[in-house]
Amino acid sequence: MAFEGLSEKLSLTFKKLRGQGRLSEEHVRTAMREVRLALLEADVSYKVVKDFISTVTEQCVGTDVLDSLTPAQQVIKIVNQELTNLMGGTNAKLATAPHPPTVVMMVGLQGAGKTTNGAKLAGYLRKTMQKRPLLVACDIYRPAAIEQLKVVGGQLDIPVFEMGQGDPVKTAQAAITHAKDHGNDLVILDTAGRLHIDETLMDELKRMKSTVKPHEILLVVDAMTGQDAVNAAGAFDEALGIDGVVLTKLDGDARGGAALSIRASTGKPVKFAGTGEKLDMIEPFHPERMASRILG
Ligand code: GDP
Repeated sequence: MAFEGLSEKLSLTFKKLRGQGRLSEEHVRTAMREVRLALLEADVSYKVVKDFISTVTEQCVGTDVLDSLTPAQQVIKIVNQELTNLMGGTNAKLATAPHPPTVVMMVGLQGAGKTTNGAKLAGYLRKTMQKRPLLVACDIYRPAAIEQLKVVGGQLDIPVFEMGQGDPVKTAQAAITHAKDHGNDLVILDTAGRLHIDETLMDELKRMKSTVKPHEILLVVDAMTGQDAVNAAGAFDEALGIDGVVLTKLDGDARGGAALSIRASTGKPVKFAGTGEKLDMIEPFHPERMASRILG
């Protein structure tokens, strides 16, 4: 699971801190130097780490924390709270359309997990919110992508709408009409990805956005790619405007930096986390639970 290295280092730092009894400002500053290194090693972006450490340090030395009966515990509590805040505080929910169907556009670079996580999300919302999803194949450039969506849709017994390799925007529009006619209150558009962000891709996504007016644009990024995931989030947000992020492959040995940096770097929340290849392995992203997991 992601964060293992970070968790280990932080737990060592806090163990030392607890062993001190009374804490001086110097103890806190030494501990924060270790926290800083641990976060940087976990691939959290430099600016995020810098701001985080200064906020935490200020709170620890500027109040009566050090004079309290359990100073180390107070410090850990502050770190926990600030890690939670860093990831957005609370779970950010998906928008729902006032009049169904809710349209969700899944975007992202190729290989991030767009297709599988679109299907996972459909399955998850069917199970937890009794939604009747329709998956839509708008990645028309790779015939294999349409086939893949049909395969995962089939595995979950979720209908898949496709119009072969025609115009993806028209496909999306037709799918929404189809959803209205067939009682599907959730439409998930699987859009094309590329190996790199390019203008053609963005233009197509912008055209789709302005035509179908999705209620939610979710960017799928791979946690294993660390800072690249954060950069992709920034670029997609700038060009297209995203509502949230699905952070996939958190089950891998990602160092966790993406989970900790995306919100602070882009202002956009991680809404869901992919936690495995199986189609039920997606969960809402809860910053407070994630912080507690990191702190062990
Ligand atoms: P796309 O090109 O963005 O549509 O990516 P895919 O949906 O085809 O996913 C790429 C690969 O990542 C596939 O082998 C998926 O099974 C795998 N994958 C997706 N999400 C996860 C996840 O949360 N954990 C793991 N371990 N693998 C995932």
